[in-house]
Amino acid sequence: MCGIFGIYPHKNASQLTCLGLYALQHRGEESAGIITRNGKKVHLHKALGLVSDVFDEKILRGLRGELAVGHVRYSTTGSSNIKNTQPFYVKSKIGDIAIAHNGNLTNTLELHKELENNGALFQTTMDSEIIAHLLAHSQKKDIPEAIIWSLAKLKGAYSLVLMLNDTLVGARDTFGWRPLCLGKLDGAYVLASETCALDLINAEYLRDIEPGEVVFIKKDSLESIKPFAETKHAFCIFEYIYFSRPDSNIFGHNVYLVRKKLGAQLAKEFPAQADMVMPIPDSGVFAALGFSEASKIPFEFGMIRNHYIGRTFIQPSQDLRDFRVRIKLNPLRDVLKKKDVVLVEDSIVRGTTSRARVKTIRQAGVNKIHMRVSCPPLKFPCFYGIDFPTRKELVASRHDIAWIRDFIGADSLEYLSLEGMLDSMPLPKEDFCTACFTGKYPLNHACPLFKNILEK
Ligand code: AMP
Repeated sequence: MCGIFGIYPHKNASQLTCLGLYALQHRGEESAGIITRNGKKVHLHKALGLVSDVFDEKILRGLRGELAVGHVRYSTTGSSNIKNTQPFYVKSKIGDIAIAHNGNLTNTLELHKELENNGALFQTTMDSEIIAHLLAHSQKKDIPEAIIWSLAKLKGAYSLVLMLNDTLVGARDTFGWRPLCLGKLDGAYVLASETCALDLINAEYLRDIEPGEVVFIKKDSLESIKPFAETKHAFCIFEYIYFSRPDSNIFGHNVYLVRKKLGAQLAKEFPAQADMVMPIPDSGVFAALGFSEASKIPFEFGMIRNHYIGRTFIQPSQDLRDFRVRIKLNPLRDVLKKKDVVLVEDSIVRGTTSRARVKTIRQAGVNKIHMRVSCPPLKFPCFYGIDFPTRKELVASRHDIAWIRDFIGADSLEYLSLEGMLDSMPLPKEDFCTACFTGKYPLNHACPLFKNILEK
């Protein structure tokens, strides 16, 4: 889970990249970084923390140059420390290489071994560093050839924004797991994980980078190639369900509208007798709207979210046991009292948050709680960049729906069917990766790492 951004050539490259990262903050809250290139000089600033913590005006002024690459990170491989922040930068025999990567590679161990045998010294535990080493070891005479050679060796999910000397490069794996779009602003090209980043800087959306496509952006040109054999598509369906921002267009379609459709389908499949439909804020809001519209049961906010808490380090004392839950969401007692409610959530991972929310609205005096989830039970880990726990921690991989209903404390619990979810998508169902629901992984993972994770 990461957000990536790049722009070239623009006189305000670092400021615009910082704004782009703001828009992509939901894709990673752990660290943020921007690298720029000014003539032959490279400027890099990255640190642990939110975009607003990591950058200020002075830092951005120091990031000079018309080419910028930015990254926000949520670690899925490699631990969370300063070394593992991105963009990852090295000076190599082919020149300056900076990498911003979203997705997970699945042949990391093999490539790591191969590169170490050839003398590579790894600085981090990120799979993204492998791409830098491949480029540096490529023995190819020019940048496009080095990139094609390096990307051809990667397996798994990658959307990439790279700085290679004075070229900005965008690339997406042939399956297309993670999104990447292309825009234009004041004659400069912009690459971003999601269109909401283009909107914020007023850039025009041109198109998505296609699966298997590599674009080379120079000062006055954009060249696109598709050097790899085509594979099936495997767009991450969870980008639509939970991960992307609702105001983004992902894989060419608006996320908000898809979420509403999922909610409407859920109402069709699992209607409930209730006085109101309410979301678990904010993740369940859009599916709840769709559920309400389709069922004609009024939509209400049954709890209100405090948007200002950020990260709190205040430790609750014993007599403030529910502090953590209440600081974020306060139930509306006068709305909830004695009501039968449909409580909509986009997904259940461990079940602990849902359990806490159900408890909160019960204490507020609600009568019946019919919980509805706008995707099927999550049973399998993701190897392509979504941060899901091991199978053991995914509540639906070990327990049936009745058990989860009782654990959560709802009167009824239903999940959207796999077919219902796929029918609600704006693209053909064959184009999606649904491995987290079905266990059918688009790539065959013979690698011991995955065997271990699947068995855990
Ligand atoms: P829980 O009820 O504890 O399983 O939490 C479910 C909540 O976590 C839902 O609001 C989801 O939107 C959210 N969620 C889904 N996937 C993830 C993820 N990979 N990381 C963090 N939160 C997630």
